[in-house]
Formats: sequence, C-alpha cells, structure tokens
Amino acid sequence: MTYDPQNIFGRILRGELPCHRVHEDETALAMLDIFPQSRGHLLVIPKAPSRNLLDADPETLGAVMPLVQRLARAVLKATGADGIRLAQFNEAPAGQTVFHLHFHLIPVYEGVELGR
Ligand code: 5GP
Repeated sequence: MTYDPQNIFGRILRGELPCHRVHEDETALAMLDIFPQSRGHLLVIPKAPSRNLLDADPETLGAVMPLVQRLARAVLKATGADGIRLAQFNEAPAGQTVFHLHFHLIPVYEGVELGR
C-alpha cells in the first residue's frame, strides 16, 4: 500500500481545497469533519505524508499525540460534551475512506446517539 498525494487531505494540507481549520502548526492541521458524527467532530491530520498508522514514522506519531491530547481537552471544554471518542482507521476493510493518516476526535453527549 502506497501513499497517494492526491488524496483529499493531502490536497487540503497543500491549500488546494478549503476546510474549516481550527488549529495548525508545523506538525498537523486540525479541522471540522465535513460529515460530523456529533457537534464539534474534529479531524487531526499530521502533515507528514503517511497513508495511515501502519506506515507512519514514530517521530510523526510522537509529535502528533500530545496535540491530539491538547485538542481533546480543548474540544471537551469548548463543546461541553460529556466525553470524547478518539478513533482512527487503517485500510478500507477497517473503515478508512481517506488515505492520509488522521485521528477523529468525536465529542459524546449523554443521551445523544452519534450520527451517520
Ligand atoms: P475515515 O473513515 O477515513 O477515518 O474518515 C474520513 C473522514 O473524513 C470522514 O469522517 C469524512 O466525513 C471526512 N471527510 C471526507 N472528505 C472531507 C473533506 O473534504 N473535508 C472535511 N473536512 N472532511 C472530510
């Protein structure tokens, strides 16, 4: 399995397509998911070109996980959610649809079913 730079997140990272950006630094971009499973559903996308967790280099993971934690805390506070789900899929049979490594941060609200 190889990395195709024409994937949609690669294009967003290069500024070729728009997004609702909530954070960006040298490591990663965080944006709202276009089809959110709940209010405040974020995607955290490392800038390094990996297809998913299976081919990501440890440096990328080491740099992005503290950001995922920071954003999880910030999203929880900003949305007033009761919990937050971290999700990440690797290859199509596992549910991956965009083939650039990303992490879902999905706020969970008590008594509210996740969408989709
Ligand atoms: P996956 O199943 O690959 O983990 O999830 C890909 C996610 O990307 C889905 O939740 C989908 O809604 C989201 N997505 C797909 N295309 C776009 C897009 O063009 N912009 C944004 N913001 N999200 C997208």
